[in-house]
Amino acid sequence: MPPAPRYRRVLLKLSGEGLMGDREYGLDPGMVGMVAQEIKTVHEMGVQVCLVIGGGNIFRGVSAAASGMDRASGDYMGMLATVINSLAMQSALERQGLQTRVQSAIPMTTVCEPYIRRRAVRHMEKGRVVIFAAGTGNPFFTTDTAAALRAAEMSVDAMLKGTQVDGVYSADPRKDKAAKRYDTLTYMDVLSRDLQVMDASAISLARENRIPIIVFDIHKPGAFAQTMAGQGTFTVIKDEG
Ligand code: UDP
Repeated sequence: MPPAPRYRRVLLKLSGEGLMGDREYGLDPGMVGMVAQEIKTVHEMGVQVCLVIGGGNIFRGVSAAASGMDRASGDYMGMLATVINSLAMQSALERQGLQTRVQSAIPMTTVCEPYIRRRAVRHMEKGRVVIFAAGTGNPFFTTDTAAALRAAEMSVDAMLKGTQVDGVYSADPRKDKAAKRYDTLTYMDVLSRDLQVMDASAISLARENRIPIIVFDIHKPGAFAQTMAGQGTFTVIKDEG
């Protein structure tokens, strides 16, 4: 019997780079499958799960703008990259036997549903995993902000950020042996110390809507389920009290 979850509904934000494995670019199918397995375990605990996946493993608007492309076009390309990642994750989740729906902020009705808030809620209530693709649908935003926006719209109990390390550290733990991991932080700590968790607009949106952000290691087998049960190592960002 898996441990009882602390949350009824959560949004998991994954960066595109987290699905790249050891590759320089694109998707590692083994990595996508492993993450899908982790999601399945949490779903089996009775938690309603929705996802936002980044696109940085394929395309980033800012980098394209740096080499001369106009920023808005680059950003639209970045949003399309998130659709590619979302379809790959949908396929991996379905191989695990889960029911899923992809909803895109940029309507693309031959490949997935358009984003409709009430419909997304209904899907989750029916036990489907909903993947929100194409970020916010607007250039000059990020998928972190999209995650905070959808988390607020879906009234989730927590937003999970699945990273390569088991929480938020004072410095990059892979480069600095003295880096310290925080158990809890406030939203203001993250903003004022400029800790690299999510961008400032995502943190502010989560703060305004009192959505706790939990940062954990998505690549550690079982960590997502443990985090849902309040076990293992992770960092929680919330207001004091
Ligand atoms: N993007 C955007 N608006 C959004 C979300 C994403 O314009 O609401 C674009 C932006 O160009 C970004 C790219 O999509 O660089 C990929 O998303 P992101 O960098 O957030 O992905 P991650 O770092 O999480 O893989």
